[in-house]
Amino acid sequence: MTAASRGQTFIAGLNDGRNVWLGGERVNNLPAHPAFRGTLATIAGLFDMLDDPGTRDEIGYAVPETGRYAHGSFLVPYTPEHIARRSGAFSRWAKETHGVMSRLSDYARSMVTGWYGARAQLARLDDRFADKISIYYKEARDRDLFLTTSLLDPQIDRSKGLTDKKIAERYLHVVKETKEGIVLRGAKMIATGAPYTHDFLIFSFHRLPNEHGKHAHALIVPANSAGLHIVCRESFADARVRDHPLSARYDEMDAVLLFDDVLVPWERVLLYGDADAVWRLRTNRTANGLAFHQTVVRFVAKLEFVAGVAFAIADAIGVNGFLHIQEKLGELLTQIDTMKALLLASEVRAKPDETGVLVPESSFIDTARSLGTTYYPRAIDILQQVGGGGFVQTPSTLSEFGGPIARLLELYFEGAGVGAEKKVQLFKLAWDLIGSPLGSRHELYERFYAGDPVRAFAGQYVAADKERLTDPVWKLLRDVHGS
Ligand SMILES: Cc1cc2nc3c(=O)[nH]c(=O)nc-3n(C[C@H](O)[C@H](O)[C@H](O)COP(=O)(O)OP(=O)(O)OC[C@H]3O[C@@H](n4cnc5c(N)ncnc54)[C@H](O)[C@@H]3O)c2cc1C
Repeated sequence: MTAASRGQTFIAGLNDGRNVWLGGERVNNLPAHPAFRGTLATIAGLFDMLDDPGTRDEIGYAVPETGRYAHGSFLVPYTPEHIARRSGAFSRWAKETHGVMSRLSDYARSMVTGWYGARAQLARLDDRFADKISIYYKEARDRDLFLTTSLLDPQIDRSKGLTDKKIAERYLHVVKETKEGIVLRGAKMIATGAPYTHDFLIFSFHRLPNEHGKHAHALIVPANSAGLHIVCRESFADARVRDHPLSARYDEMDAVLLFDDVLVPWERVLLYGDADAVWRLRTNRTANGLAFHQTVVRFVAKLEFVAGVAFAIADAIGVNGFLHIQEKLGELLTQIDTMKALLLASEVRAKPDETGVLVPESSFIDTARSLGTTYYPRAIDILQQVGGGGFVQTPSTLSEFGGPIARLLELYFEGAGVGAEKKVQLFKLAWDLIGSPLGSRHELYERFYAGDPVRAFAGQYVAADKERLTDPVWKLLRDVHGS
């Protein structure tokens, strides 16, 4: 009997008692459910690349202690070669899904890797932290655990904070401490990939005042914890893979997590009760640098994909010679090069943290992430302008090409140098990017996945060394006008 592949093992483990809610029902057989089947097949295929001798060195590395291959996101980088290896693993997975699947767990795994790498430094936050994260890191690495994050509090009334009783009761907080662990109640949003994750990384995104210890925690919560409810949005999956090639295979489900008195065992409670310690973990340079690095690698793949679709459409309908189309297609290339340059700069300028872990330079990564929030909507805008009405000038299904009016379709749907069916295939793919529910969700995702973009840009300003820029201005004025 041959051993199950990693993909098969991943899928087989999902019917583990977790409470996933979709369409008003509890999902009983997750792998067989049409909302998840296509996406899970994609993820299983990516996991299997680690079993394949032809791809495993690109996706992963042989763990020195065991000789078993683990995903590159678990590699603690100490040299530029390690950074390149991590980047290559992210890039290969991203390219396999054209950058459309963003939460393949390599982001959250990198955060765990960062906490593990920086454990000696983070031990200052809690003296049990280093042991807990060491055990968990090895478990996640050696069992190929799929991980995701859920960091934001539910949107109830953003004008109010934890001093409001209604808010305090609904934001995730500890209601009881027991010998086994802490019991939590409240909600967290949004967790992409939630229905099929093994564990959630849960901590606060925003800084909490120190008096709110019950709301201050950093946790690793198993998806099948009793009392945890994973409430999915509407599914955007579409089984018609020929008509919806992206929605059929890449719908990463988003969900809200409801904690109805969930016990989290002490070994999974990384921090609790100390808001300042939680904030220091949340802003840890090592973990953020390793995780955010993945997001930029993935984003490059997505921009390249959108540009590829736009270029193909321009060719397919013969608009590639018009000046304003060329200008817009050129703009897509500048987006890609800007992102690549920032990525490269972050890798070349990587600096060791105080424990020796080499961390990509965060200022370039932060800039890339902030620019991404405007680049993606602009890329989609350009794609729309290039394609015009062609996106809806398609028959409802590609099957029409085998039907009674095929002859007429071949005649009237033909493109410039491209046959009718190929042109319709291309426009259907493009519609899946810009107009389908999945496509709309992606525009929202790129604006908000990294947090509120307004506060992200503002945060860069607040954290910057501003005198470096203002000093020469004051000096010039002094030179010209005297002091
Ligand atoms: C599709 C999708 C998937 C996501 N997946 C994940 C995930 O897997 N894991 C995860 O952790 N996160 C994820 N996120 C990000 C996260 O859940 C939030 O959406 C994101 O951080 C923005 O916060 P918010 O939605 O609460 O917006 P809000 O903070 O409520 O902001 C709404 C608007 O009000 C403004 N605003 C609100 N409060 C303030 C304030 N104090 N000061 C100034 N302006 C303010 C904002 O600028 C914004 O314009 C995802 C987001 C999306 C859209």
